[in-house]
Amino acid sequence: MNPKARAWAEINIPNLKENLEQFKNMVPEGTELMPAVKADGYGHGGVIVAKAMAESGIKAFCVASLSEGVALRKAGIDGLILILGYTHPDNFPELVEYGLTQTVVDANYAAELNAFGQDIDVHVGIDTGMRRLGERSENIEAILSIWQYEHLHIKGVFSHLCISDDLSEKAVVFTQKQIKRYNDVVAALREHDLPPFKTHLQGSYGILNYPDLVYDYARVGISVYGVHGEINTQTTAQVDLKPVLSLHSRIASLKNLYKGEPVGYGLTYEAPSDQRLATIAIGYADGYPRALSNCGEALIRGVRVPVVGRICMDQLIVDATAVPDAQVGDQVTFIGTSQNETISAEMVAEKLNTITNELLSALGSRVERVVIE
Ligand SMILES: *Cc1c(COP(=O)(O)O)cnc(C)c1O
Repeated sequence: MNPKARAWAEINIPNLKENLEQFKNMVPEGTELMPAVKADGYGHGGVIVAKAMAESGIKAFCVASLSEGVALRKAGIDGLILILGYTHPDNFPELVEYGLTQTVVDANYAAELNAFGQDIDVHVGIDTGMRRLGERSENIEAILSIWQYEHLHIKGVFSHLCISDDLSEKAVVFTQKQIKRYNDVVAALREHDLPPFKTHLQGSYGILNYPDLVYDYARVGISVYGVHGEINTQTTAQVDLKPVLSLHSRIASLKNLYKGEPVGYGLTYEAPSDQRLATIAIGYADGYPRALSNCGEALIRGVRVPVVGRICMDQLIVDATAVPDAQVGDQVTFIGTSQNETISAEMVAEKLNTITNELLSALGSRVERVVIE
């Protein structure tokens, strides 16, 4: 079966590897990358990207959930796989079975994990200001108490920056506070006679905006996929990000729309003049958001064309009048480049008033991932 028959995403492995190399060169000597491959590798295909990263020498990964970690192990990914989120006690056996490392989301959870009664590798989460997961950084006694548990093998202590992408003075002050709180916790722990543990704090923008910080790991996420979270993002360190994913579909049918006629569910668009419509085989169930109804754009034969009418679950309609030679079966690009025109993920995310992380991670399972080696 031709995987490029309907709707597909091309995953450009050379670009992914080039982004990885840039980050490897950017982080300090002795810092190892632990790429985030959660949410199916930000929609790129978790196994696809983890395998390519492993080929590039990556030995540590982070995921959001147990099932994501299990999927990587089943695909033959070795090394450290850290689950950043909560795992239910019913699923603790799988942590052991698949050799996954669990985040200790707070001190109470440490007791629960220990009560399972089998040895588990863990990293301890510290809350330095995001107020999501982790024991609060000032509660040193509660943090230290996690070391009392015989079944917990504490291999790491980490925190997460929540405004490191923002270079405004206020944001930088907050991030500096988070960095200090984290360093203080690590220093306090080091004063005790604890088994060695690894440190990590930064995601993509922690690396790009605070490139001199030295920890054992750096959890690069969105930017290793070659895009910024938002358009026109400025960073302290310079990178030349190469987008890894492009999104395509095909023209299923062409037809005329006459002046004054409406289109699609809810009849939300009316032709201002005679038009040539193209119906495309991709919809919101594929992750092309319905919010792009009447404002999305696509590329056909290098020409930018607008989405008209409401986006359907499995299809959408564009005004292809500007491409008179368009044919049924033509490739249509929604993210990526066609001849001299490009629609970046950042541009699409901006229209949706969101970040590329959300757009890409929401791409549907029906979209075939086609690996470009
Ligand atoms: C998702 C995530 C990352 C990666 O974040 P990016 O901003 O995509 O680089 C790193 N650390 C944690 C805890 C995360 O949840």
